[in-house]
Amino acid sequence: MSRGTIAYIDLGALSHNVSCVKALAPNSRILAMIKSNAYGHGLIQVAQYLSEVDAFGVACLDEALSLRTAGIVKPIVVMAGCFDNEEVRAYFEHDFTPVLHSFYQVEAIQSLGAVKPINAWIKVDTGMHRLGFAPDQLQAVYQALQPCGALIKPLSVMTHLSDADNVNTSYTFSQLNTFMQFTQAIDGPKSIANSAAILFYPVSHLDWVRPGIMMYGVSPRASQTGADYDLKPAMTLTAKLIAIKKLRKGDSVGYGCKGQCPEAMNIGVVSIGYGDGYPRHAKNGTPTLLGGQVCPLIGRVSMDMITIDLRAVPGAAIGDEVTLWGKELPVETVARHSDTIGYELLCGVTRRVQFCYE
Ligand SMILES: *Cc1c(COP(=O)(O)O)cnc(C)c1O
Repeated sequence: MSRGTIAYIDLGALSHNVSCVKALAPNSRILAMIKSNAYGHGLIQVAQYLSEVDAFGVACLDEALSLRTAGIVKPIVVMAGCFDNEEVRAYFEHDFTPVLHSFYQVEAIQSLGAVKPINAWIKVDTGMHRLGFAPDQLQAVYQALQPCGALIKPLSVMTHLSDADNVNTSYTFSQLNTFMQFTQAIDGPKSIANSAAILFYPVSHLDWVRPGIMMYGVSPRASQTGADYDLKPAMTLTAKLIAIKKLRKGDSVGYGCKGQCPEAMNIGVVSIGYGDGYPRHAKNGTPTLLGGQVCPLIGRVSMDMITIDLRAVPGAAIGDEVTLWGKELPVETVARHSDTIGYELLCGVTRRVQFCYE
């Protein structure tokens, strides 16, 4: 028996979710966000599969290089932009599109000699207050880059929303207003929308949408699940039952004696732990699924194992498959029991887990 710790990736679900994006934003091009190993789903496999999107978005140069090395020819937009002159050269060599958010990047590009020009996006900070030029700097940066022969015109402009997944819309509307106001005189393509804005703010769709989490079938709003928006989870994480323990009432399970048997009962030991990316903070009672029944976590998550309450499945047998999250069990639910968000759980699946694409 293999350890059986497997992440099944349903490529058809990715396509379905992209078609949801297209239905919501039919007039926008799609920059598919595949940073952080495509949210844990496998950077190259996802990029090779997603032929129906217009471009890919990654966080950093290394991710972009991996894509080109694997033969991906679509445009690649790198959210962090370029750091130094050496990186700038890599952007031109491989035709990557940097997101320019700071003056040091503008200077690095302007100081370049003759090259084959590339596209660039300029990021304006409308309220996230991480990356981006202040709104009142945007016009100056845009104008300063007009004569730059290294960049294809028109340049694109973008911003990122900090609160689009919340129902309190006033902050988001102030970000949208700021963006509209300061980019009014700019003729280049414009982009605002992450998944939450694609779902909740149609006015933000503009020329490019940038879906991430919803492409993987997961809700950007932690209180909902992907199914609430007709999305299908692309990842189903499973492991196997590797031991069954008969314990007595009051027996404790695992490190720190954190799980206590309320009665004489069977405990299942499952071949997954935080070394595989299952969250160590998952509390007692976090659901897992065995044979369609909920088997709650009992005791602490270890590096290589978890222990589950088998009372709902008297017939459970060694080798049975246990689902940690996915089709029948939303990752959003597991995240809620672990004080985190689905994004973190998906990104956190480690290399010890076997990936099956189907
Ligand atoms: C990650 C990211 C997105 C996608 O966000 P989701 O919430 O996953 O849809 C969009 N834009 C930028 C700049 C990002 O970094």
